[in-house]
Order: sequence, then C-alpha cells, then structure tokens
Amino acid sequence: MSKFLNNKLFRYFSIFIFLNSTILPVKSSSALAAWEIKSNGNLELRTKSNTNLKAYFQKANQIYGDRFWIDFPGELKNPRTIKGNGPIKEIRLGKPNKGNTRLVIEFKKKTYLSPLNWRMIGVDENRWRIKLFNPKYSFKKISEGSVKQGIRNVNANQNSRNTKKRVPDYLQLPNVKQNKFSVVIDPGHGGPDPGAIGIGGLRETDVVLEVSERVKKLLSEKGVKVWLTRKNEVDLDLPPRVYFANRKNADIFVSIHANASRGKRRDINGLETFYYRGWRGRLLAKRIQKQILKVSPGSPDRGVKQGRFYVIKNTNMPAVLVEIGFFNRKIRCKKIRKNYSS
Ligand SMILES: [Zn+2]
Repeated sequence: MSKFLNNKLFRYFSIFIFLNSTILPVKSSSALAAWEIKSNGNLELRTKSNTNLKAYFQKANQIYGDRFWIDFPGELKNPRTIKGNGPIKEIRLGKPNKGNTRLVIEFKKKTYLSPLNWRMIGVDENRWRIKLFNPKYSFKKISEGSVKQGIRNVNANQNSRNTKKRVPDYLQLPNVKQNKFSVVIDPGHGGPDPGAIGIGGLRETDVVLEVSERVKKLLSEKGVKVWLTRKNEVDLDLPPRVYFANRKNADIFVSIHANASRGKRRDINGLETFYYRGWRGRLLAKRIQKQILKVSPGSPDRGVKQGRFYVIKNTNMPAVLVEIGFFNRKIRCKKIRKNYSS
C-alpha cells in the first residue's frame, strides 16, 4: 500500500514544505547565497537570514524526470543549468517570475526517491539541509559558493545558551493520553462510486482510503482513538457515515476527499478544507489545512471555506471535509454534493 502512495499518488501530487516567514522586498537580489549537493545525498543551502522558502516535489511526467525545487525571494542574476551526475540529471537556477529565484534539481529516470520522508531542516538562521537521495547512489558533489561561510566557531559557542538553533520545522504530533480523544475519519466514496478519476485510472476512493489509513496510524500512535467509516471498497451512503460518527460520539469528524481539476486548468488545483458551521469547525478546518500544507501532498492553498456537504452538516461534533489534492482531469465528485442545496 505504501508503494502505491510513493509511486502512483506522487505522480499527480506535489509536496509543499512551508518554511520560515519573513518576506524580502521584491527588488532585492536572490536570498540564495550558496548551495551544495553532497555525495551522501544531502542538499545544503545558505540563504539570507530569515528567508521565506518554499519547496516542492513533483513526480516525473512525459517531459521531465522527478523534480525537487525551492523558491527563494529575490531575483537571480544569471539563470543557468549545471549538468548532474549519478542520480541527478541536472540542476537549474532560474527566475520563475520577476523577483524570485528557483533552484530545480531534476533526477534521472529510475532514481528511487522517497519524498514522503523528506524534511527540510533549518540548521541555523541561514542554513538549511534536506536529504534527497540515498548514499548508495554514487554522486560527485556539486556546489556553488560556500555553504559553510559565516559559521561562527563551534567551540566558541559550545557553552553558550544563546546559540540560535532553529527547531526543525515540521509536523510533530503531540502525545495525548491514551484514548482520551477520539476521531472518526471518513474516507470519501467507495465501492461502485470511485469518486474522481485521474489520468492512468487513479481513483479517488483508493487514494483517500490509503491516506485515511495513514492518518489513523499516525493518530493512533499518539494515543488518539480513531475509527474509520469504511475500511475497504464498500458502497457506503452518506447517512450511515453520519450515524456512525454520532453514535461513536467522537470529538471530531474528518471526511477525506481528493478533488480534481478540469482539463489542463492546473491553476484551480489545490488543497481546501470545508466546515459547515461553528467556530470549532472553523478552527479545526484552519488547523488541518495548515498542517496538511506543511507536510503532505498539496498544491496552492485554496483556504478554509464553508460548505454544505451532507456529512459535515449532519454530524454532531466539529466536522470538516478536506480536499487533500487533485487529479489532472475532472470527473465530478458527485456523491458528497448530493444534498448541497438542502
Ligand atoms: Zn470526493
């Protein structure tokens, strides 16, 4: 099953890793000061202090191999392409739009990558590290500039409590008391209703079931009691889902869907979370949206919205419906909209 996620899902989805926050003025020069891909597969970066980075991954398509890229504020002077070696086809530095810099690492076909496990770590206020590939690939380091420049003597700082060290910026679920909180997760669709269908026949029902099982595992490990409304490909109407959640008296209800965009209109792709009413629902939607943007397959942030979907309208507890991503082609996600106007 996890192979399915790594291979199939990621052909259609890309990862967003949202990092630190200050935005530099548009006209400034690139915040990327130096970079280095080491033979052990680590990419290291040096940036201006407090730079706002956005990192993405996209599975290979007909034109490109697997690609990882990072956008930096500030404009690059000389766009360039650097030939890779080992698993890396090439490295491109460009300006995707005015005032920005993009570092693209394109991998050769058949390179095994596990982007689900990638974590960009802020080593200190202007250095970053992410492990991209396994050292089993033989790779000769490629770099521009010195990523180490400006690092203070480590020994001099060893005893200083004021040494600035950024906490790795990724999701860490808190441990909670065993079974104190309970969640009903509702994988959308199922059985004869596949939901949206992507290119290559990837079905929403399979994707959301896989994602729901993963979420269940993560939450369970942290002590949360989790029930799924369905565990396999069964035909499950909407009222039984609601009835199930209400009977379990769960603390929250989360329905998971994957939406689809029409034709080539990739601009309407994105992650969005719906709630029906109440500040608790809204808060839950906001938090889930934020966390998914941080760690999961995603796309532009389409935000938190109010929606009159049956399952979130009729459940008793704070409830949200998450659209976790997108397919390239649209087949309408009918079932959940059945009672849209009621
Ligand atoms: Zn759906």
